[in-house]
Amino acid sequence: MAKKNVTDDFSLEKIAERLRSNRMDAYIASNPDSLLSIMDELISDDMTVANGGSVTLSETGVIEYLRGRRINFLDKEKARADGVEAVRNVELGAFSADAYVMSTNALTSKGWLYNVDGKGNRVAALVYGPKSVIVICGKNKLVKSVKAAHKRLKSYTAPANCERLALKTPCVRTKTCMDCSSNDRICNAYTVVRKSNIKGRIKVILLDFEAGY
Ligand code: SF4
Repeated sequence: MAKKNVTDDFSLEKIAERLRSNRMDAYIASNPDSLLSIMDELISDDMTVANGGSVTLSETGVIEYLRGRRINFLDKEKARADGVEAVRNVELGAFSADAYVMSTNALTSKGWLYNVDGKGNRVAALVYGPKSVIVICGKNKLVKSVKAAHKRLKSYTAPANCERLALKTPCVRTKTCMDCSSNDRICNAYTVVRKSNIKGRIKVILLDFEAGY
């Protein structure tokens, strides 16, 4: 039997194959322009589209792209100006949207999506509700295993997000997880999506460049 090359674990083509064998669709974008071309294919005019909070979506221009499309965009950032109830209505609207756009905290070499939420609205929409879920994953989010994904979250992603959001959690100071009891804790709902129940409902766009935390 041919010996497995360890670099295969992180080849985007191999990960795309594994995602497809997990009943997800997979695409590879070599740059931000090709990412937006793929979005053109996946999102049609007049769709209702929602999104999960994500640095990746802002950094890659996807939020501005969605604002510029002729769609019914449930814009959570804009809803924030109208208060907590407006945000909750947008989050609930995501469950009946045609498409939900998000990034992922990590993607394992087996093609499993690892995510952690404070409130849980994003992981809930990933698992159930919107007809289609588009997951955008920077190459910096690729990890060997769920264990490695969890380690990455605790030692980097969650503290960085807490700092970005100006939350009162100890990891902002320590730069690593303290398994806190803070009311601001963002690590509450953990999910690992191993396969898409409805074939092709989850579509993963693998970026051949780094984006997000
Ligand atoms: S559990 Fe608390 S301390 Fe640990 S990363 Fe999450 S928010 Fe930070």
